[in-house]
Amino acid sequence: MRQLGDWWQALGHLLLPPVSPCGLCGEHPSLPVGACRGCLDSLAISWERREVQGCSYFSLFPYQGFGRDLIHKMKFQSGFEIAETLGFFLGLAAREEPELATVDLLVPVPLAQGRLEKRGFNQAEILADTIREVWKRPVCTYVIRKRETHSQSGLSSRARRHNVRGAFAMLPGCDFRDKHCLIVDDVITSGSTFSSLAKLIQDYGGKPMGVFVARTEIVRSDQDAQEL
Ligand SMILES: [Zn+2]
Repeated sequence: MRQLGDWWQALGHLLLPPVSPCGLCGEHPSLPVGACRGCLDSLAISWERREVQGCSYFSLFPYQGFGRDLIHKMKFQSGFEIAETLGFFLGLAAREEPELATVDLLVPVPLAQGRLEKRGFNQAEILADTIREVWKRPVCTYVIRKRETHSQSGLSSRARRHNVRGAFAMLPGCDFRDKHCLIVDDVITSGSTFSSLAKLIQDYGGKPMGVFVARTEIVRSDQDAQEL
């Protein structure tokens, strides 16, 4: 009987393949999009377009509550699976966004070497790699962080701008001329990191835009950015 039971169970798996767990909570069965219904509802996904310093960017949800906790877990508890799941969402959304149809390449925001060694991975690179799987766009690896910057969290907007000014550089051999470059990162706060990298891309002839998992409510427009 035991053998028959095993056989029956195996047949059951063939007929009904096991559902993979949610990529965000790891607890409940996932929907085809990679996360469970409860997590999707808690994220309150609302794809939005905004601008900072004349550059447009898109984001998936507000940086608060469950989404904020998830991003924290992704960064500080080696949440590869969370990063891949959120990257998958970003890829699906970006692929369907008409304004991003012209994008030529993805530019993940680089981490400083020290922080990369400490954390073990760059969440922006994982996001970009997963976006590439969904939406076939190459990932640019020519941008580096020239110098160590202080963590942006806890800094005022003015201090953030000062902190990242001149923080990025381009390795020799890149060609951004007339290329639409999509800057990729997990969170946009004051927009100072985004603006700093966008400026560098413009200096090299590229046309920058951005895509982020989460947005804070600090920067709403150019006017706000100038006031901050
Ligand atoms: Zn879940």
